[in-house]
Amino acid sequence: MPTHLRVEGRRDDSHGPEVKLPKVYVGTVDKEPAEWAERLMALPYTNSRQGNVPTTIALSTLVRMTPQRELRLRPDCRWTADAFNTSLANNRSAVEACLGYVVGVEAPTPCSYCLRNLRSFPVCIIIPDCPQLTACMGCHQNDKDRQCDHYVPPEEAPAAPDPDVFDKLKEVLATTIQTQQDLNTKLLQQLDSWNKARSDFSAMMVAQNDAKGHLSRRANKRFEAAIKECQEAKVDAESVGRNLERQSSLVESALKERAELAARRAARHERPQPRPGFNI
Ligand SMILES: [Zn+2]
Ligand SMILES: [Zn+2]
Repeated sequence: MPTHLRVEGRRDDSHGPEVKLPKVYVGTVDKEPAEWAERLMALPYTNSRQGNVPTTIALSTLVRMTPQRELRLRPDCRWTADAFNTSLANNRSAVEACLGYVVGVEAPTPCSYCLRNLRSFPVCIIIPDCPQLTACMGCHQNDKDRQCDHYVPPEEAPAAPDPDVFDKLKEVLATTIQTQQDLNTKLLQQLDSWNKARSDFSAMMVAQNDAKGHLSRRANKRFEAAIKECQEAKVDAESVGRNLERQSSLVESALKERAELAARRAARHERPQPRPGFNI
């Protein structure tokens, strides 16, 4: 972090009455760095830095350079200090261009726009060795970089690959494979548990069926025994019945025999006497 990047207690984007802005210099020749040079080096705009960090690579480059001159606009620029400040607060390219004007070098040949006084700065200033700022500061202030004679398109060739990248990629790949293997192991463990649970469940079902079978076998046995008892009781009852019939018939025939005997006895006693007068 450049030590000269001052952190101000108050940012000037919405400047109030307590911030007295210096007038922008519009003389005919460049002069030593002064108030606006110092102000621009401090990057007091929210579009230009976050905390102490410049928001673009170009600004990072510029704040590390040494101020060469005070900011100067062409004499016919009628900016008030406030209006000029507001234009910077609203346009980061303008901040880069004004700071670039302070720290850059005069182009060996002015671009055609500066030459025709079509830009705000009186001198065509460029920043050597800054790929992000190849146009002159006058053209860059208006975002007209491509119109400038000094403009060089950014190289489109891809950056050379960092040899460390391959090692990092290999590392990431190895981590990914390891993670995948760990996941597979967990999955297999879960499958094992599931299979065991399924086999336990099957065993439980078999045991339950066995128990049911056992219970029904016991019940059947009891039922069969009860039927057998009933049948035996029936046989017993029939035999008792037959005995009773036999005894009853014996009693009946004994009674009949006795009655016949009594009748015969009675007949003997009541034999009739010869009738009187039969012999006359
Ligand atoms: Zn120029
Ligand atoms: Zn230019």
